Order: sequence, then structure tokens, then C-alpha cells
Amino acid sequence: MAEASSLIDLEDRFGAHNYHPLDVVITRAEGVWVWDVEGKRYMDCLAAYSAVNQGHCHPRLVKTLVEQACKVALTSRAFRNDQLGPFCQELAELSGFSRVLPMNTGAEAVETALKAARKWGYTRRGIAEGQAEILTFEGNFHGRTTTIVGFSTEEAYRSGFGPFTPGFRTLPYGDAQAVADAMNPHVVAVLVEPIQGESGIIIPPDGYLRRLREITSKHNALLVLDEIQSGLGRTGKLFAYQHEEIRPDIVIVGKALSGGMYPVSAILADEDVMGVFAPGEHGSTYGGNPLGAAVARTALRVLIDEGMVERSANLGEDLKQRLRAIPSDHIAEVRGRGLWIGIELKSTAGGARRFCEALQQEGLLCKDTHENVIRIAPPLVITEEEIEWAVERIAQVLTTP
Ligand SMILES: *Cc1c(COP(=O)(O)O)cnc(C)c1O
Repeated sequence: MAEASSLIDLEDRFGAHNYHPLDVVITRAEGVWVWDVEGKRYMDCLAAYSAVNQGHCHPRLVKTLVEQACKVALTSRAFRNDQLGPFCQELAELSGFSRVLPMNTGAEAVETALKAARKWGYTRRGIAEGQAEILTFEGNFHGRTTTIVGFSTEEAYRSGFGPFTPGFRTLPYGDAQAVADAMNPHVVAVLVEPIQGESGIIIPPDGYLRRLREITSKHNALLVLDEIQSGLGRTGKLFAYQHEEIRPDIVIVGKALSGGMYPVSAILADEDVMGVFAPGEHGSTYGGNPLGAAVARTALRVLIDEGMVERSANLGEDLKQRLRAIPSDHIAEVRGRGLWIGIELKSTAGGARRFCEALQQEGLLCKDTHENVIRIAPPLVITEEEIEWAVERIAQVLTTP
């Protein structure tokens, strides 16, 4: 078996350097645990940015993946397959939206939503060709395509990648009045994360999404929610927008939609919006493939059957209280919803990265986000005992000067 250092060396020599990972080389995983090539065990407190909400290598998902792979994996949409229909039906019934458009990665689903919103604006609202405007927010993260990074406010995501797609306007996050003020007859959609994950688990003020719903309805614009990271149980509800009891026009899902097994994303909408796509106008070779569709069907069933959404709500609240009780001079704030918690450090703490490295030594894998925030987002299958185990270690690291 190769040594960690030689594997890291290979990656650094032959791979592009577009990430700065912790130097832990994982070879095996199960539930909330991962093992490195030297046999050391770690708790995964990132869960692949919420793609493995169902836990690593969930046996039912592995079984579905293997069985479906042995039957048929890819047909392309030139032909039909026996998994796509049931997948769309089950996701539609679970979400309460009447139509599903499957893609693969999150960014592709965001692009799909942007195309749907624009086309809806031109065909249903009669906006002059080329004039559609979409409102987005400071600190947003919606993926890495050239169009999407064009409306990012993160310099590293966009610098050097222009020229960018026009038709987007960026407003401060959490300020509903700014959206009301920005409304004009060209606005076809507001694209928003219910909680900004990559920005550091930023929770908008109570009532924010409800206000956005009112404003967009009043101006006949679409409310498009990016639930790729917040959705499918992470915040203690199936979708984070349910905390405010609203109904958006388009919901974008990905990540946990396939429980970390295989990339599957989708947009959900009703006929009024989804009807803008006619044959040939949008597509993807792998989108809606039987392997992904079968895996996603099981991923959704596992989430519901095993009560993971409720677990996230209950255990998340417990974890948040325990973290708040840590007597650390470094902590500025502990915030979160469900099992999605950010520990914001004081500016004097010296950055989150060094704590993530210290936590790695203690057997916990966490990811720093935005310099000063440690994100805690374990798979939703975590147990109370495992939470206790994690809190002990986090407390130890955060109370060391
Ligand atoms: C991860 C993520 C995306 C992009 O998904 P990819 O699969 O990486 O393309 C988009 N939006 C949000 C909120 C995300 O967390």
C-alpha cells in the first residue's frame, strides 16, 4: 500500500492545484467515519458539503448502485429507461412540485434554473429578447461555470475568468428591502440560498424568505431557491425554505440527492415554469440516466425511512447547545440550523484553518470556510454518542490557546 506522503506527492505533481485540502488521504469510509491509508480513523464533519447526508457507503445505496450498474447504467435521453419515470414521480411527490428536470452536478442544475427563468420571462411575461434580469446576492455560492462565477462576489472565484454573462445584479444578502427597491419590469427571477453555506453558514433574518416570496409574487418574478447544500434534511427540514412555510417557484437540488454515490442534480418546478422547455432546448448526456435515477430513488427513500430529517433537527439543536457551552476565548458565535453549524472565531484566533488542522490530529475532519468559520456538518446518521465524542475534541482544541 502506498504511503500517504507519496500519494499526496502524486496528486501535487500530476493534478491541477485548484484545491488546498487537508493532508489526509482517505481510502475507506462507513457512516460518519473515514479511514486514511495508514489506518487512522476520523469523523467526517463535512460530509462532502452535505452530499453524504445519508452517511458514507450506506448499504442500501451501495446495493442499488451495484445492482443497477449490472443492469443498465446509461441510455442517454435519446431512449427511455425504466428508472427515470419513477425517480421523477417520487421526487415530485416528495417535494410537492409537479415536474422534475434531472441533471448531474449542482452547477448544471443552477444553469438549468437560470435558463428556465429567462425563457419563462421571454415567453410568459413578454420581456423583450435579451433584457431579462436575475437578482443574486453578495456572498452567494452557486457553482463554478463561467456564467455562475460571473455573479459571484468572491474574487478568487471570478478573477481572470471573464468576460461574464450579462443580466445579473447582486444585492446585499438578508436585506429584503434592497430586493423590493431593485424590482423592475425586467426582473424575471431572484436566485437565493436559504442559508449561505459557503459564505460561512450565514442565516438571514427571520421572515426574509417570506418577504422575498411576497416581493417576487407582487412583481410576477420567480423565486428560485438553491437548496443544493441546504436541502434534503441538512437544516432539520426536507427543504430549508420550509422553515418559513413558503413555496418557491423553482427549487434546485443536488449533492445529497444521490447520497454521495454518484452525481445527480435536478430542478423542481410546476408545469407553468417547466413547460418552457420543449424537446431539444435543453439536455445532458448523463442527465436522468438509469444508474443515477436508481441511486437517487434509494437516497431519497433512505432519508425518509431512517428519519434523517428529524435526526438533523433534534441532534443539531443538541450539538449547537453543546458547542455554545464550550468556554473558549476564541469563539465569537455558534450558529446553525439542524446539523449545519458554523463556529465563527474571533479575529484574534488566527484563522479557522489551524483549528481544522488541530482537529485533524484529534480525529475530526472539518473544513474552514471564509477564514474564520469552522463548519460542522456531519452525515445525518451521526449518533448522540458520536456527537459527544466530537464535542469533547472540539472543546479541547478550542480551549487550547
Ligand atoms: C455545491 C453547491 C453548488 C454547486 O454544486 P456542484 O455539484 O459542485 O456543481 C451550488 N450551490 C450550492 C448552494 C452548493 O452548495
